[in-house]
Amino acid sequence: MLKYKNISVPDKGEKIEVDGANLIVGDSPIIPFIEGDGIGPDIWKAAQFVLDNAVKKTYNNKRKIEWMEIYAGDKAVRVYGKNQWLPNETIDAIKNFTVAIKGPLTTPISGGIRSLNVALRQKLDLFASVRPIRYFTGVPSPVKRPQDLNVIIFRENTEDLYTGIEFKSGTKDNNKVLNFLNYEFKKNIRDGSGIGIKLISEFGSTRLVQKAIEYAIDNDKKSVTLVHKGNIMKYTEGAFRDWGYKAAKKFFGDITITEDDLRDKYKGVLPIGKILIKDRIADNMFQQLMLRPTEYEVIATPNLNGDYLSDACAAQVGGLGFAPGANLSYSIGLFEATHGTAPKYADKDKVNPGSLILSGVMMLEYLGWKEAAKEIEKAIKRTIKAKTVTYDFARQMSGSKEVKCSVFAKEIVKNMK
Ligand code: NAP
Repeated sequence: MLKYKNISVPDKGEKIEVDGANLIVGDSPIIPFIEGDGIGPDIWKAAQFVLDNAVKKTYNNKRKIEWMEIYAGDKAVRVYGKNQWLPNETIDAIKNFTVAIKGPLTTPISGGIRSLNVALRQKLDLFASVRPIRYFTGVPSPVKRPQDLNVIIFRENTEDLYTGIEFKSGTKDNNKVLNFLNYEFKKNIRDGSGIGIKLISEFGSTRLVQKAIEYAIDNDKKSVTLVHKGNIMKYTEGAFRDWGYKAAKKFFGDITITEDDLRDKYKGVLPIGKILIKDRIADNMFQQLMLRPTEYEVIATPNLNGDYLSDACAAQVGGLGFAPGANLSYSIGLFEATHGTAPKYADKDKVNPGSLILSGVMMLEYLGWKEAAKEIEKAIKRTIKAKTVTYDFARQMSGSKEVKCSVFAKEIVKNMK
């Protein structure tokens, strides 16, 4: 077995193995978890309780997750020492054990890391951020028909304006870049402008769109929408759109059609077994998702658009407290709560653990344990229907009973069959 300095590998259980695009998952997979900072310990405890009980009940004690704690954020500093926000062991363990789950992490203000989440994504090449957005009946929502929105967003995670290539106004490097652009390329950039570089590659766009289309195929979805701002940023966002269509044609040409095909060859009716690839400009997409949400199923988009769209969609169905997420590479899956550490609620056993529990549901689906995943979803629906909810929902639901984070988890388990 693997040996680490501060990570105890469970005696029981087995490593998940990877065979090409498939995971080989035994009955007791070892799964690393990062508890997270702030509200992390509270929501992790609640999520672990729900996941363990769902697996136990669904498979009659034949399956069990062997949890293995790994460290990042404040707790990593406590265990490993000063500035050790993201120890190498943590990265190694996720690579070795393939599937992991994490709570929210504080963004360090020192130690040379811009964001632990961005660092995790880059070090593990987790190129797709996946955010399913769907409505659970009874959850307070600001829109009239939240149930009409049921989309899954595949956001490119490693490129775009997030690579951190930036030049602060007034610095020597900034002047160098600015002068180069002004003199070599005859641009007219204002003195003192801050500079950030937007990078979108064919490689990055292709693998993201491929993953989105594969998901559409596996889950019987009828369309994949490429969301971009290519009308303005032609060689980055526009290129993402073009490379997306190219990937669809090259790898899935037998089952994908475009909107032109739909109109010209199929009289507007999508043939059975085909997937429609369409594209929308990002600003239009924000209103489309409010006004005509039923027309969208799978969305593939560059990093910045995806960041905004994910939270806007989550708000439509009740907010971030209930929005799950995953970061995927070709084989590694890191599942995570999408909200932050909400430090003012730390250790108060108060907040909604829904985001982390539903990320666990995604994780179970990823393992192929779909029955346990369904069981949790059904139990959550029953719990919300009974109006037994945490403070964030309670303050917007008339007639509800406000319960603590841990009690909400217990209610979900009680509501399992
Ligand atoms: P935040 O932690 O997400 O909290 C903002 C507000 O969202 C909270 O005050 C609370 O609203 C609500 N909220 C968040 N989680 C909730 C939950 N589970 N249940 C109910 N309500 C919840 O955002 P932030 O205050 O901007 O960020 C705090 C820290 O988290 C920062 O260090 C940031 O960098 C980090 N962060 C980490 C991640 C991550 O690890 N994935 C993501 C985002 C931010 P009310 O005040 O209305 O109750």
